[in-house]
Amino acid sequence: MKIGFNEGCNRFCADHSVLKDLEYCEKYGFDYIDVQSECLNRDLEAGKYTIEELGEWFKNHNLKMLSYNALIFFNMKQTQEEKDAVMEELDEIIRRCNILGCKMIVVVPSMDLDVHATVAEIREDAVAVLKEMVKKVEPHGIKLSLEFCGAPSMSINRFDYAYDIVKEVDSPLVGITLDQYHFHAMASTWEKLEQADGDKIFVWHLNGMEDMPCGAPYNTDEKRLWPGAEGDILDHQRFADTLKKIGFKGDVITIEVFRPEYYEMTQEDNVKKAAEVTKAHVEKYIS
Ligand code: ZN
Repeated sequence: MKIGFNEGCNRFCADHSVLKDLEYCEKYGFDYIDVQSECLNRDLEAGKYTIEELGEWFKNHNLKMLSYNALIFFNMKQTQEEKDAVMEELDEIIRRCNILGCKMIVVVPSMDLDVHATVAEIREDAVAVLKEMVKKVEPHGIKLSLEFCGAPSMSINRFDYAYDIVKEVDSPLVGITLDQYHFHAMASTWEKLEQADGDKIFVWHLNGMEDMPCGAPYNTDEKRLWPGAEGDILDHQRFADTLKKIGFKGDVITIEVFRPEYYEMTQEDNVKKAAEVTKAHVEKYIS
């Protein structure tokens, strides 16, 4: 199993830059990185480097970019203008991915919907949008990975809903990002995951979390922990065993934690620690 680093772990560390993350990830033995769009945009706006320079970096190193993380709020757009804006953003992300050698775009659902949409209405809309997106990514061999987010305000907030959407789209280019925190935070069902087709899981986000009530407003990404840290209540063995059983073929496990106290570390120490806990996790549960 290869290991990946998601910049959610350290995006607010002092003087953070994506280019430094690439160097540190290579140094501490990660095989892949999920580049966070907000980090990338922040650096580009500050003129720290160009996309082309990052692309050159990847050509000369072993580290690869697993995913562009992310195109956010892709679904349930009410006006044509809003729908067009999503597709324009996708065009720009595809352009960047082609320069960076990235073959996966994570898409994140919209939140705080004004309309009181049913599960079926949200599914129909997401299926239609994803099918449109497939037409754009297909010529480039880029995949789309839908990340359901385990918060009450999110329009697709359980694995169960996300899986039904991806099944209906029925494209080898569309799958799911299974984030352990998101799975637990809105009580996605193990039965659904156990019956799922492992080929439909594209990305596996690793983290631990504090024991917070499902749906509580304070049960946010900030309650994530390094996996195995004191107080972590996630059933890591069950995640590992279930993904193996259903035939997850992603071959990468990617650590993604958004804990404010970890942002107080230096950027380098954060990557180093993330590598240590991810390697220990793989050793204990997967290999
Ligand atoms: Zn995630």
